[in-house]
Amino acid sequence: MPSAELLKEAERQMTICNACRYCEGYCAVFPAMELRRFFTKGDLTYLANLCFDCRDCYYACQYAPPHEFAVNVPKLFAELRADTYQDYSWPAILSSLFKHNKRAVGVLTGAAMAIILLLVLAFQGPAVLFGVHVGEGSFYRVVPYLAMTVPFLIIALYGVAVLLLGSFRFWRDTSGSLGDVVHFGALRRATQDAFGLSYLKGAGVGCNYPDAAFSHARRWFHHLVFYGFLLDFGSTTLAAFYDHVLGWVAPYPLLSWPVMLGTLGGVGLLAGTSGLLYQKWLSDREPAEQRMVNMDIAFLVLLFLTSATGMLLLALRESPAMGTLLVLHLGMVAGVFLTAPYGKFAHVVYRYAALVRNSIEQART
Ligand code: SF4
Ligand code: SF4
Repeated sequence: MPSAELLKEAERQMTICNACRYCEGYCAVFPAMELRRFFTKGDLTYLANLCFDCRDCYYACQYAPPHEFAVNVPKLFAELRADTYQDYSWPAILSSLFKHNKRAVGVLTGAAMAIILLLVLAFQGPAVLFGVHVGEGSFYRVVPYLAMTVPFLIIALYGVAVLLLGSFRFWRDTSGSLGDVVHFGALRRATQDAFGLSYLKGAGVGCNYPDAAFSHARRWFHHLVFYGFLLDFGSTTLAAFYDHVLGWVAPYPLLSWPVMLGTLGGVGLLAGTSGLLYQKWLSDREPAEQRMVNMDIAFLVLLFLTSATGMLLLALRESPAMGTLLVLHLGMVAGVFLTAPYGKFAHVVYRYAALVRNSIEQART
């Protein structure tokens, strides 16, 4: 939960912004702020998750440090967001994974990889790991079908349940009723804003990230990651359909839909994550919150390595390296699934919920 001190500081800065209103055209945060005279914890949580960290307001602000008012909205909201993710996650004992996120992601992914490797060595034998396997079912000769599907399905369903519970708590604390959600116009507008990253366009000139210069780069890199992820998800879903419904067993030819979608998604993820990591490295740390920076880096590195091992697996699937690459790739995928509810991935649900709340609010004013 955000400390009383942080909430007080947030209220102070919002009161200054509410009197100033210079930034009201930059994003959805300022018009939403202007609808309020007082700021509860729920209001501040909502506004913080509506912020895309574009930093336009920081570089435009006449009251930013070294001014004595010390207004630094992106940093303030990043601190509140980091608290939100931790606050709304479940179970409470695991919420500390947000605090030391780089280490948590590294340890969980490493452990998943080690467990898969040990199980393969114990049940399949070392020869399987370094042998050449070709044709239908070749992946399953290294990691059997049930071992490759059931644990991943369980971890994914657990992650979805934790994130849904978090979004329910967020919705309740930001004064939403469940009936509000059935507002199709608001859902459509929020979805358009989320898929188009509307608030990273700035006033058409891009945003102030990684520094004071305007740029569209962050929006494009983010799109590559987001749509790359969706394409990979589509590829996996289609492969499952081929396998379970049509009885066509993997691996599939290079020109099949699952492979083409997976390849496009993998390239998008590699380009998008490297671009965002490069921007993170260049970025001004003055409007940043270190916990959030750590979460961003851990998540981007994990996504990069997951796509890199996936692409290598595709390229070398008929070589003796296939077994080792399959274990590495499955370990990375397990790391993504295990840490999704306890790291940067969580921003997807809270930001979307904040966009829906904002669309409802704007429709009513
Ligand atoms: S961030 Fe600064 S310039 Fe923008 S509304 Fe707040 S006080 Fe005014
Ligand atoms: S950083 Fe960008 S999105 Fe966040 S409040 Fe400032 S202008 Fe709005």
